Amino acid sequence: MAFREQFAVPIPIHAAIFPAMSGESVTAPGATLSRSEFLRQLEVCTGQPACAAQGQWLVGVVAIQDLPRIRMVFGDGCAEAVVQALARRLKHTATGNTAVARLDDHRFAILREQAGSPEQVQQALQRLLQRLAERTSREDGLDVQPRLRLGATLYPLEQGSPEVLLASASAALEIFEQAVALSVPATRDAVEARTRMERDLRRALHRGEFALYYQPVIDGRHGRVVSAEALIRWHHPLLGVVKPDRFIPLAEEIGLIEPLGRWILESACQTLGAWLREGLGLRMSVNLSVRQFQTEGLVEFIAGLLRQHAIPPGYLEVEITETAMVADGEAATGLLEALRALGVRIAIDDFGTGYSSFSYLRRLQVDRLKIDREFVDRVSVLPQHAAICRSLLTLAREIGLDVTAEGAECPADIRVLSDQGCELFQGFYYSPPLPVEDFQAFLRRPGE
Ligand code: C2E
Ligand code: MG
Ligand code: MG
Repeated sequence: MAFREQFAVPIPIHAAIFPAMSGESVTAPGATLSRSEFLRQLEVCTGQPACAAQGQWLVGVVAIQDLPRIRMVFGDGCAEAVVQALARRLKHTATGNTAVARLDDHRFAILREQAGSPEQVQQALQRLLQRLAERTSREDGLDVQPRLRLGATLYPLEQGSPEVLLASASAALEIFEQAVALSVPATRDAVEARTRMERDLRRALHRGEFALYYQPVIDGRHGRVVSAEALIRWHHPLLGVVKPDRFIPLAEEIGLIEPLGRWILESACQTLGAWLREGLGLRMSVNLSVRQFQTEGLVEFIAGLLRQHAIPPGYLEVEITETAMVADGEAATGLLEALRALGVRIAIDDFGTGYSSFSYLRRLQVDRLKIDREFVDRVSVLPQHAAICRSLLTLAREIGLDVTAEGAECPADIRVLSDQGCELFQGFYYSPPLPVEDFQAFLRRPGE
């Protein structure tokens, strides 16, 4: 049986809007088109001002993601039945003017009028895909439920030739991870920006574009600096200084956090070693991200740095967030126990914003809690914040932990926390994170 007859489905196609369909050379209305017929159809639609004025056109590519698996496990017959069922379902689920083409073994193209904003279209497509997948298995009596994905674009939001529009829908399918991916200029811009960022980030380490800044931690009782937190900055050649929130998650995702994390530890220990040799007697805190817990040999690496720079282990503190503790509890526990055995100190960062599970405070011998700046902010005027800080300080005192208040910006807040027994502060009131030379100048300021 010819391919087209085999998959022919009566698709409601309006000849006035789909004039290409009425010509002799083109298959009968309702058939599954070939790729070139589909492109001709698309050309007609996008080329007609009347059509464009009527609304927008959706160009989509539906793929049976797991067809090779279905073929391997259930055989060719079953795989073809799934494909045929999908072709039928595309017709039944489609409403209005819709053209369907089989692009290759496991992909169909669809063209239809589709009103709505990109967000609304995204939702409609999500529902469409769900219906397609369910019915393809249930109503066709197949035992397998294929995994479907859909990439799409919208004309005239997205401009270009029929080939470009179809390529854009296919690219959305390939690039994005979600089941329904709509490529419109805004999403493409976001993907482009991310791709550029990723490329730049991979180069940044070799190009020496990272720097550690140091933020002083102050003992509020006498105003002296007792330690520094190392905070990374990326000097991007075009964007200027990029904050870690914008690139640490990306570095984690692309596996760059391991070399970057090692660089951070190396630089921080080098600076700390130099400070100790100068007799400064400051501690250094370094943030560890959740992915770094999985770094092979991290504890040995840290032990080597401490030896190399002659740092007594108690001068190094690692900060991990509660969320990281919870996300990877076992890896975190093992790593922290090993670090603790080395004599390195452990601080829980952003305390109060995660799950605040007290069990790890007991299990791990944590040395310090850092009260998140969310609670420190306006503690002098918001009774709720005051109550939270008071109870955290009481808890810390009872179980013998140090406490640092993060984000100390205002003297009234600092006074309230001092009265509640908080001794250490870190925040813009004293100093923002500084490049190493400025940090050293800060140490030499009058009164220090
Ligand atoms: P964090 O460890 O909680 O660091 C404190 C953040 O609060 C820093 O932001 C700091 O600049 C900011 N901050 C300090 N004082 C104040 C204040 O008074 N007011 C306000 N509004 N903000 C204040 P930064 O440097 O942008 O870092 C953000 C987060 O990125 C850090 O939060 C940390 O989780 C992560 N991070 C920074 N450096 C590193 C690093 O070297 N490695 C890893 N894994 N993560 C890092
Ligand atoms: Mg921190
Ligand atoms: Mg913090």
